[in-house]
Amino acid sequence: MPIKTPSDTPGVTAGAATSLAGHPRYTSDADARAAAATDRSGYIPPTLPDGVIRARSVDDVVEALRLAHAHAIPVVPRGAGTGLAGGASAHAGEVVVDLSGMNRILAIDPVEMTAVVEPGVLNAEVNAAAAEYGLFYAPDPASTAICSIGGNIATNAGGMWCAKYGVTRESVLGLRVVLADGRILRTGRATIKGVTGYDLNALFIGSEGTLGVVVEATLRLRPRPVRTETVAAYFPDIETAGRAASAITAARIQPSILELMDGPTLEAVDEAEGTCHRELGGAFLLAQTDGYGAHLELDEIARAISPYATSTHRAASAEEAEALVKARRDAIPALERLGRVSIGDIAVPRNRLAEAFAGLEDISAQTGVRIFSVAHAADGNLHPMIVVEPHESITDRPAKAALGDMFHLAQRLGGTLTGEHGVGLLKREWVGEELGETSRAVQQAIKAALDPSGILNPAKAI
Ligand SMILES: Cc1cc2nc3c(=O)[nH]c(=O)nc-3n(C[C@H](O)[C@H](O)[C@H](O)COP(=O)(O)OP(=O)(O)OC[C@H]3O[C@@H](n4cnc5c(N)ncnc54)[C@H](O)[C@@H]3O)c2cc1C
Repeated sequence: MPIKTPSDTPGVTAGAATSLAGHPRYTSDADARAAAATDRSGYIPPTLPDGVIRARSVDDVVEALRLAHAHAIPVVPRGAGTGLAGGASAHAGEVVVDLSGMNRILAIDPVEMTAVVEPGVLNAEVNAAAAEYGLFYAPDPASTAICSIGGNIATNAGGMWCAKYGVTRESVLGLRVVLADGRILRTGRATIKGVTGYDLNALFIGSEGTLGVVVEATLRLRPRPVRTETVAAYFPDIETAGRAASAITAARIQPSILELMDGPTLEAVDEAEGTCHRELGGAFLLAQTDGYGAHLELDEIARAISPYATSTHRAASAEEAEALVKARRDAIPALERLGRVSIGDIAVPRNRLAEAFAGLEDISAQTGVRIFSVAHAADGNLHPMIVVEPHESITDRPAKAALGDMFHLAQRLGGTLTGEHGVGLLKREWVGEELGETSRAVQQAIKAALDPSGILNPAKAI
């Protein structure tokens, strides 16, 4: 099935974007349009958006949406463009609303442990500011240095620390959102607890820019752990490592990080970084614990994995721990040296990780597509990474076929299409299969209620 673009979507007027040209922040500069046309998903759009509005204030966003609503012009919200599902990709007939210039940290309250930020602030910048108060912001995508909080909220992003602290949803207390017609909605609250009304925060978090544009967020911060302990372990193969990770979950231990990497990914990291992980095994597991009892929890982890591991290395210092964590963080940049990388994010029940890894190896063998795998093992969230040639789009065959096979593998194992990157454009054709008729109809009704003309990021997510 071909990917649908906005011009195929009823209700939106493709080609009418010039009506937004009167916006003071509008540009139709070719370089600006090219820079805002896609994300890091590996998707190459066939056309460029008509223009870009570089928002600097809430008023800029309100004005953009009022105009777009009045003229039925499709609008694509954009944060830092690091998304992996084509969610921020834009085509002819659409205008991009770029939020990256709204990048101020408005307040940090060290007593309430909250931060109020604009959407274009980078994830790592929030953490750097929180660190000054002995606090941290838990959702830590591997893209922390380059992705925006607005994009994190729109995708409900995850990361390594989510093993213990949950995904973005667990760290957002309130939002300020510009709706499709330009009205401003406040969701959630500034307090840690509160249950008045429906949970509109949860509705907007993960809605991929299809229900409104996030212009401000109140984030929950947490105390920095007093102590962390780190262990790396090597295994003969990734299926065995998957069984070891499942053993940790089954032992009811709560690591703050639990990551897996397969042999081909270790080779790519070694090649890029001059390390020698692959010599030590065919798969790598990284576990970290934190808090006052971190060392005791790590003892339990070491016990749980010992029947499977060929060797384990407990970090003796903060520097050694950082080197082990770095090996995992280096995985994506190492693969990006090999070609255009498309990072999948299926999730499966945590006791089925080994089956999922075996299934991915079968898909690679059957389609001839190179697949490298890492995983946030504590969440059952795998990142199968397809590497194609730099000029190829992930929507070209056979990569596209491999994507479909991965989704069906996740379904067979009782899992899901996307654990943290979102559906975007790339996974939309499989959404109906996962949601089922009633759930999809309810979701489409919510979309129609909030965005009756269908101007917000059309042909994405649901
Ligand atoms: C090297 C690398 C590693 C990554 N690692 C991880 C990881 O570990 N975990 C993870 O979850 N993701 C990861 N990602 C994916 C990506 O960084 C996240 O999805 C991130 O949340 C996207 O943020 P962004 O600012 O780049 O958003 P964009 O790519 O600009 O947009 C993503 C989606 O959010 C919408 N959007 C953006 N801003 C707003 C807003 N203010 N209001 C409404 N909608 C908005 C867009 O329309 C789009 O649908 C990684 C990406 C890369 C390149």
